[in-house]
Amino acid sequence: MDNNSFITNFQSPADLGELISFHGQGYGSNLEALLNDSQNGTNWTVPSYAKIGDIVFFMCAKSSVDYRHMAGIRKLARNTGDPAIISLADDQYDLHEKYAGKILAVGTIKNAPQKRAAGSAYPGWGADIDNIVFLKQPVDINEFRSFITVSTRGAITKLDDTQYQALMRLIEKNNPGFLSVYMQQSQELPGMYDIIEGMTDEELEAGSKQSSTGPAPIYTTTTALRKRNPYLPEIVKRNANGVCQLCGNPAPFQDRKGKPYLEAHHILPLASNGPDHISNMVALCPNCHRKMHIVEDQSDINKLTQVANSI
Ligand SMILES: [Zn+2]
Ligand SMILES: [Zn+2]
Repeated sequence: MDNNSFITNFQSPADLGELISFHGQGYGSNLEALLNDSQNGTNWTVPSYAKIGDIVFFMCAKSSVDYRHMAGIRKLARNTGDPAIISLADDQYDLHEKYAGKILAVGTIKNAPQKRAAGSAYPGWGADIDNIVFLKQPVDINEFRSFITVSTRGAITKLDDTQYQALMRLIEKNNPGFLSVYMQQSQELPGMYDIIEGMTDEELEAGSKQSSTGPAPIYTTTTALRKRNPYLPEIVKRNANGVCQLCGNPAPFQDRKGKPYLEAHHILPLASNGPDHISNMVALCPNCHRKMHIVEDQSDINKLTQVANSI
């Protein structure tokens, strides 16, 4: 998996001023609105090495310090004598109790991290996070502490692939159909099909309920593609003369024009900076072509390299 994933500590308001600013900006104590506020920028603490597309799990901190901190803010709010601020502080305290020690949302890093200005209330690096999905059933730290040790010193806990997948499965278990909900507003989650392969039949059944018999929803995406020389596939296929250059069998069927069906394949993929050149190309039957992309067997690669160089 090329993506990183992190648990980031979602802190209760740093001080009374921040609480009042939540109030002024209209979030009140609506955490979901706060997390999803793309208009005002959703800049959260991330590690400096975070990349666009990395997955962030928002977790509410849970320590006696946080409780004292929230109690302190509530006291300060009382001192203002402003009923709106007092009730907001009470709501925040209740939210803190409800979510403390739990993962409550998942999102995706939207832009490259930037170092925050010196003296910022939250030092370190920050990035905007979008595609935030708020969990109806948060995941309690007791459900994952056996395989993830949440950092108590930093705001960030980096997860490896195994931890990421296990945590995603817990989220899916508590929130059946989560992956589908996530896909409605984003794209595929990294490692999604590995996560799905690990699910029980019941979990699959619960997730599949999100699908409908109508046309599937459309989303658009931008992908960087490589320009190809349009003559090369035809040359490669003519050279192969209707025979797969990996298994040596005749093409398994003929196309609509009665020509043996083979597919041109780049031995070192264009996406890995392989050349779009005849010396890097072979013609394969559809089975062998799939196999090359799925299995990437080194002896197959060696064999095809020899074939391409001998022509
Ligand atoms: Zn073949
Ligand atoms: Zn190919």
